[in-house]
Amino acid sequence: MSIFPITIYGDKILRNIAEPVKQVNDEMIFNIQSMFETMRNADGIGLAANQVGLKDKYFIIDLQPVEGYEKMKPLIMINPEIIEESEEQIIMDEGCLSLPRLRAEIERPKIIKVRYIDTDEKEQEIEADNLFARVILHEYDHLIGKMIPDRVESEIKKQMQNDLLRIMKREVDVDYPITEK
Ligand code: ZN
Repeated sequence: MSIFPITIYGDKILRNIAEPVKQVNDEMIFNIQSMFETMRNADGIGLAANQVGLKDKYFIIDLQPVEGYEKMKPLIMINPEIIEESEEQIIMDEGCLSLPRLRAEIERPKIIKVRYIDTDEKEQEIEADNLFARVILHEYDHLIGKMIPDRVESEIKKQMQNDLLRIMKREVDVDYPITEK
């Protein structure tokens, strides 16, 4: 296993549409294990493949550090699709390892259904709500090239511009390895 540098807002791969995984092979398992190490080292609870420079369509989630989710198993969602979203929306504060120090309130569906394949290439379908749904939707966004600034109103995005520039220039304190400019 190894710790990957995390891609930062402005890195082109964060705008790419991820490529569906055809087969779960040893290289991918190694990458997934390294992603867990990378995420935990950065105190994250979700990480998409393009956040470590990989083009594949999958992400990992581990909510165990969060109060109330201690017993939840870490998850790997390969080729995920959001198949249902509740009409009810909730606002939650979000951060992103590719946007160090930035936080924003974002409105998203409270409950979702997601279909994905696991590392045994078995199809899974689960319902998720609240924080769990939130993390899935945030990570799913990464796989379609979207990030927090794309999910806020234009007025808020304007207010973010200076912070975004500082992040792109790496003029922000980060205590985990990130990509070079
Ligand atoms: Zn993110």
